[in-house]
Amino acid sequence: MTTLPKNIDHPCYHNDNAARIMLEAIFWPNGPTCPTCHRIDTVIEHGGKKSMGPGWYWCRECRENFTVRVGSVLGRSHIQLHKWLLGFRLYAASKKGFSAHQLMRTIGLGSYRSAWFMAHRIREAMDGSADNVARSEAKARLSKSMKPISAPRSAPNGRSSMTSAGYALAAASK
Ligand SMILES: [Zn+2]
Repeated sequence: MTTLPKNIDHPCYHNDNAARIMLEAIFWPNGPTCPTCHRIDTVIEHGGKKSMGPGWYWCRECRENFTVRVGSVLGRSHIQLHKWLLGFRLYAASKKGFSAHQLMRTIGLGSYRSAWFMAHRIREAMDGSADNVARSEAKARLSKSMKPISAPRSAPNGRSSMTSAGYALAAASK
């Protein structure tokens, strides 16, 4: 399993393309996977003149473009990927956790709103993956604050895989 590097000098914490490659390895251990139909064999990488840039894939079955962000905890935010990875790494390394204010200062996020959003998502994913009471509490919070979280195959836009992607990132941060 791919895990996040311990050294925060690693490019994946400072460069968005390096972060994207790291996330693909974590979320898609078997190769780029369609967020809608969850197949691998129908997916091709965009290339040539029609390329939309690195990290874009196309599912022949669903006829949709996607990137590693789609359907994950990161999908509905404008926060850059490397900042997400740094957030997970710092949270995993800290014994007491940290506040949204600290996150904003340390990572250099543009607004408290972004920092609050990120801090909550990280906490939910990290605490939710721990095998303790916090797990059920985090799940309760998740089901209140986000929908849908179940039935990933039938959910529109594949957004429901947010939690599994968050847990995968949490596990990779340990
Ligand atoms: Zn598909």
